[in-house]
Amino acid sequence: MQTIGRFAPSPSGRIHLGNIFCCLLAWLSARQKGGRVVLRIEDLDTARCPRRYALQLQEDLRWLGLDWDEGPEAGGERGPYEQSRRTALYRAALERLSAKGLVYPCFCTRAELHAASAPHREDGQIIYPGTCRSLTAEQAEERAGRRAPALRLRVPEEMWSFTDGHMGRYVENLARDCGDFLLCRSDGLFAYQLAVVVDDAAMGITEVVRGADLLASTPRQLYLYHLLGLDPPAFYHVPLLLAPDGRRLSKRDADAGLAELRPRLSAEELLGKLAYLAGFHPSASPRTARELLAEFDWAQVPKTDIRLPESLFNADK
Ligand SMILES: [Zn+2]
Repeated sequence: MQTIGRFAPSPSGRIHLGNIFCCLLAWLSARQKGGRVVLRIEDLDTARCPRRYALQLQEDLRWLGLDWDEGPEAGGERGPYEQSRRTALYRAALERLSAKGLVYPCFCTRAELHAASAPHREDGQIIYPGTCRSLTAEQAEERAGRRAPALRLRVPEEMWSFTDGHMGRYVENLARDCGDFLLCRSDGLFAYQLAVVVDDAAMGITEVVRGADLLASTPRQLYLYHLLGLDPPAFYHVPLLLAPDGRRLSKRDADAGLAELRPRLSAEELLGKLAYLAGFHPSASPRTARELLAEFDWAQVPKTDIRLPESLFNADK
């Protein structure tokens, strides 16, 4: 079976080192096996993801030498590769789940959920306490007259486990550790969990390489694969890059963004430094993405978050 990997960024700003780190590992992992790479723009929240960022992202990836075989411009038979143009597929999947009696409307606001002091997951998300799980049809109808509901998936009291290609075995009890999760927000936006499963399956993705912040969402996605009768890909979760002070790197860290880095560093310098942080390149010396194919080795990649050294990405030294 041919390996098909993917980049699936959500371009709500210029990409930063963390995004590039993830794209680099996804690219190396697929290309080293002679595989293909799909670029999918996760722009469901179109207000937050203006098109100019998606175009800039493609330009930045090309500059880095991280190429793809199917995507917004490269085309391909599984397109379109922008989630904002694929909502009919997500709606169809939602209807299949609804037909199984597993979807119910939830009228809770974020404020109400926080006020209910529902327990939180480790990642800070609320474990839904099931407030709207057993509303009668009449109650739901009466509430729907006042507020558009979100839609949640009923999850069972079951353990879901999988073996991550990089992080090893991961187990979660869906009901206890997660709770009934959102498939569609009250404003009509499909949830990440549903869209990512539908798309990865439809695009024939065989391996998903992404940040460790998504490790905990994988059991939910595996449950959706199961319910929809789809084959899940292999998962590889990669450590997150942290700012020198230990905070999660974000779009607000301007000095970690490509707008700041591109004028100062060549693509080869940037990739060499990232490969060094990823543990498989012995020094921070410049390398092209293609040159790194010979060195890339999952076994060398750390499993814990990586703090960026203070000066590594400053003007070259
Ligand atoms: Zn609710």
